[in-house]
Amino acid sequence: MRVLAIGECMAELSPKAQPGDFHLGFAGDTFNTAWYLAMLSPDIDVSYFTAVGDEALSERMLRAMSEAGIGTRHIRKVKGRALGLYMISLDKGERSFSYWREQSAARLLAEDTEALNAAIAESDLVYVSGITLAILDGPGRNTLLEAMRSARRAGKRVAFDPNLRLHLWDGAGQMTEVIMQAAACCNIALPSFEDEARWFADKDAEATLDRYVGAGADTVIVKNGAASVHYRQNGRNGAVPVQALASVVDTTAAGDSFNAAVLAGLATDMPLGEAIEQGCRLAGQVVQSRGALVPIRLNLLEQFA
Ligand code: AMP
Repeated sequence: MRVLAIGECMAELSPKAQPGDFHLGFAGDTFNTAWYLAMLSPDIDVSYFTAVGDEALSERMLRAMSEAGIGTRHIRKVKGRALGLYMISLDKGERSFSYWREQSAARLLAEDTEALNAAIAESDLVYVSGITLAILDGPGRNTLLEAMRSARRAGKRVAFDPNLRLHLWDGAGQMTEVIMQAAACCNIALPSFEDEARWFADKDAEATLDRYVGAGADTVIVKNGAASVHYRQNGRNGAVPVQALASVVDTTAAGDSFNAAVLAGLATDMPLGEAIEQGCRLAGQVVQSRGALVPIRLNLLEQFA
């Protein structure tokens, strides 16, 4: 199974114990999912598709990706552009984020249609998020939606996490319209209920399932924080309870890691309910540590074997 995740991976500066000292890492929603997939399943060939700059930081990120077992051969370099960056600030334990991503190279990832289509042609499962679509301009967005549509028509699996982030869009109307266009281009949708309820006024998970199935997805999985995950696959409904945790430290990348474990399961034709249980186990680990990329405990990996 060859998975291609498409999106933006940014440089991340997170504060260390010594005030003024920062750790340099790399993160971004679809990249986080690729990272967990590569860690969970050495048998899955995971590649990332994005555009990077021609500066040292971009080189460093490519090296970090390769070291994590993520293929970088489809990543384009754009002259004169640089990697997007965000910095985490801590104030009395509360995290806030500053972003420098308006002009990031990744915003041009769909400019080279041929490169995009070639990367998709070499994959079995394509993974895109609402954030991937949000950072593109209108033509780029249409190129990516068309690539998703063609991939699906060609018999590939297309997985989509709406990951609704209003600040990246020109208003709620544009966001909800493009998200539903993407919903019509995917076969696996992985929405989070809290966001969907807010922006689509869904009254319950059933309403979210109905909307994505109505748009054309055949498998829809609705995450809902600590509440049960509801799903529908080819018309059949199910729910998986989430184990209660004594402490939740940081929910960053909960959904991204969940998606990785679900896709890893689906890649091996695991029944969807089991793949979701696997997703909950991994996300349950991730929310108990700080940061997006949390090394997985070995005994958890064994549960995946
Ligand atoms: P979300 O995208 O916030 O709905 O979360 C994705 C997944 O992360 C959920 O389906 C759970 O498996 C896990 N998760 C998130 N928050 C919690 C929590 N407070 N307790 C346990 N698991 C959680």
